[in-house]
Amino acid sequence: MITNNYIEQLKRQSKLDLSINPELKFSFKVGGQTLGESTFVIAGPCSVESREMIINWAKKLKKIGIHALRGGAYKPCTYPVKEKLSGGWKEGLREEGLQYLIEAKNETGLPVVSEIMDARQINKLSMEAIDMIQVGTRNFQNYTLLDELGKLDKPILLKRGTWGTIDEILGACERILINGNKKLAICLRGVVGMPSYRHVFPSVRWAPDVMMIPALKELTNIPVIYDPSHSTGYRNFVKPISKAAIAAGADGLAIECHPDPKNSISDPDQAISIEELNSILFSVEAIKKSEGIK
Ligand code: PEP
Ligand code: MN
Repeated sequence: MITNNYIEQLKRQSKLDLSINPELKFSFKVGGQTLGESTFVIAGPCSVESREMIINWAKKLKKIGIHALRGGAYKPCTYPVKEKLSGGWKEGLREEGLQYLIEAKNETGLPVVSEIMDARQINKLSMEAIDMIQVGTRNFQNYTLLDELGKLDKPILLKRGTWGTIDEILGACERILINGNKKLAICLRGVVGMPSYRHVFPSVRWAPDVMMIPALKELTNIPVIYDPSHSTGYRNFVKPISKAAIAAGADGLAIECHPDPKNSISDPDQAISIEELNSILFSVEAIKKSEGIK
């Protein structure tokens, strides 16, 4: 890790300390696999859509060797979803969705990664259902939430705010770390600024932030997971950006995939099929082999 004047200044002012400490290693178990030691793949639908859907899909994903199941129960939709969609999904199945995630976990043994949007959602049910708590991009600097998550003994996946600078990413991490929780990974998921693509590929909302991977690696040992789904917004770009992220040094991927991608209840343009996911996993293995990555 390099020493950098700007970061050193923040350190002297006691604004950053643990996140940039080269002695701290930040490897931790999520289910059976240690995140931070070898490439960690999180996959699953954007949203938990029904009991049957998440359980059956989890079983299929387990077979192709992913390490954790993702699925949103609380969904931070950009605009309020007023109409009831199929099965009463609305803006996530919420507590009902968490129940289904518990069942999917019990059926497959896969640990669950899922978002909570508010400190009030930290309770018995969410703690039983969720093995790694996702902080969504919109809550990246919600300090009430981060302070509470810092008090837990539970892995946290902190997604970068679409606006977040590198020192703000470290600052948000520091919030969690100073409260005691060292089971922390950063998730990069694309940033604002997309005019050169968006008129041609309308679902592309964000710019992939792959260079932030080696940049963070210069300053911190906190593992970095890359989300090629939200960062591209378009299923045909998910594989190339997954490969780029692994080649750039990401500690893992968080990928949205769906049994019927085009009909995904949320984020349908970026959802991929299991065949596409499998092909990404093969490419990831090839890159790891050629690059000597664990
Ligand atoms: C998600 O991963 O389901 C999600 C809502 O992502 P983000 O917070 O990055 O938009
Ligand atoms: Mn999504």
